Amino acid sequence: MTATRVLVLNSGSSSLKYQLLDMARPSPTTLTGAATPRSDTDSSRLASGIVERIGEAGGVADHSAALKQVADELSSQSLGLDSPELAAVGHRVVHGGTRFTEPTLITDEVVSEIEKLVPLAPLHNPANVTGIKVARELRPDLPQVAVFDTAFHSGMPEAAARYAIDRATADRYGVRRYGFHGTSHAYVSRATAALLGKEPSEVNVIVLHLGNGASASAVRGGVCVDTSMGLTPLEGLVMGTRSGDIDPAVVFHLARVAGLGVDDIDDLLNKRSGLVGLCGDNDMREIGRRIAEDDADAQLAFDVYVHRLRKYVGAYSAVLGRVDAIAFTAGVGENSAAVREAALIGLEPLGIEIDAVRNAVRGSAARLVSTRTSRVAVAVVPTDEELEIAQQAYSLVRP
Ligand code: ADP
Repeated sequence: MTATRVLVLNSGSSSLKYQLLDMARPSPTTLTGAATPRSDTDSSRLASGIVERIGEAGGVADHSAALKQVADELSSQSLGLDSPELAAVGHRVVHGGTRFTEPTLITDEVVSEIEKLVPLAPLHNPANVTGIKVARELRPDLPQVAVFDTAFHSGMPEAAARYAIDRATADRYGVRRYGFHGTSHAYVSRATAALLGKEPSEVNVIVLHLGNGASASAVRGGVCVDTSMGLTPLEGLVMGTRSGDIDPAVVFHLARVAGLGVDDIDDLLNKRSGLVGLCGDNDMREIGRRIAEDDADAQLAFDVYVHRLRKYVGAYSAVLGRVDAIAFTAGVGENSAAVREAALIGLEPLGIEIDAVRNAVRGSAARLVSTRTSRVAVAVVPTDEELEIAQQAYSLVRP
C-alpha cells in the first residue's frame, strides 16, 4: 500500500490546528490546478479540527497533550497516526529567515536552526518548534516537513528586500524584509493563473490576502518580487489590530513624549491599532453594520483601510509594469464586496474595471468579478494554506 496521507499541523502558542489530507484522492485543485472551494465534497480532506486553550484553564495542559487529543480524535475515525497510510506530517513554520527557502525535511539540525530564528519571530517560532518536537516524539519514524511562511518571498530582489539602513547593522541582526503569508500568496497566485487558463510563468498577479492579518504581494511569472510585510508581520496594510506602515519615528515620539516602553509600543502597534484602534472593532462585518448606521468612526476605519490598500495596488502595478490579475483572498478579501469595490473603483485608467454586479454575487468558488472588457482580471480566490502545505510536504516524500 502506498502511503498518501499528509497530516498538516499549525501549532500556535495556545492552539493546535490540524487537517488530514489524502493526496491520492481527487481534490479538484490537485487535478486541475484550479482553485476550488473548501467544500465538504472535496474527498481529499479526511479530517480537520482545532485544539484550543492549550495551557489555559479549562484546556489541555500542553502541546503534547493537544497532539495526543488530535491523535485520539483521528483514531476514533479510524484515521490514526499509526496508520501505514500516513506519508508525512507537514508543519507550518512562520519564520524561515534567509536559511530556509524551500519546504525542508526535518532533522535535529533543522529543528535547532528553526530555534535560532526565534528572535525574529518570538511569538510564533517557539510554538511551531514545540509542535514539531511533539509530533516527532509520537512518530519518530515518520518524515516530517517544515513549510515556511516566508519561503515564497525569498526570491524577492535585494531592492525590495533591503531596508535603507546601515548595512553592517542590518546584516548583523538579520534586519531585512522577509514577508509572511507566503503559503497563501503562492497558492492564490497559482490558482489565479489557473482561473485565467494560463501557466503561473505567463502571468503577473497582485495578491491581496486580507484576513485579520493582511498582506499584499506582487508576483511576476510565479515569482514573488515584492510583498507588504517586512521583518515582522507588522509592516504594510492596515490590519484587524495592527497598524501596518507608520513613520518609525512614531515609536521614538511615543517613548519620549508619552513615556511608553518598548513592550507597550509593541503591544499598541500589534494589538490595539489597525481597525480596532481606529473604531474599536476589528471584524469587517461589524464595521459594515456600523457604517450602515452612519457611524463616523467605523467609516473612518474603513476609509483608512481602503486608502492603504489602493496605495499598494498602485505601487505594485508600477513594480510589475504589466498586471494581468488582481486576486482577493482570506476572510475580508473573499467575503467583503464593499472592500473589493472601494479598493478598485475609479482605477479604469489603469485597466482595472470591477463589475459591480458580479462583485456583489456571493460564492465560495474562485471567480472573476471584473467586467468582460477589463484589461486586468479581478478575481476572488479562496485560499487554502493547508492544501498547499500538504502538497509541498508530499512532494518531498512521495515515492
Ligand atoms: P485569519 O486567518 O487572519 O485569522 P481570516 O482569513 O479568517 O483571518 O479572516 C478573518 C476576518 O475576515 C474577520 O476578522 C472578518 O473581518 C473578515 N470576514 C469574515 N467574513 C466576512 C464577511 N462575510 N464579510 C466581511 N468580512 C468578513
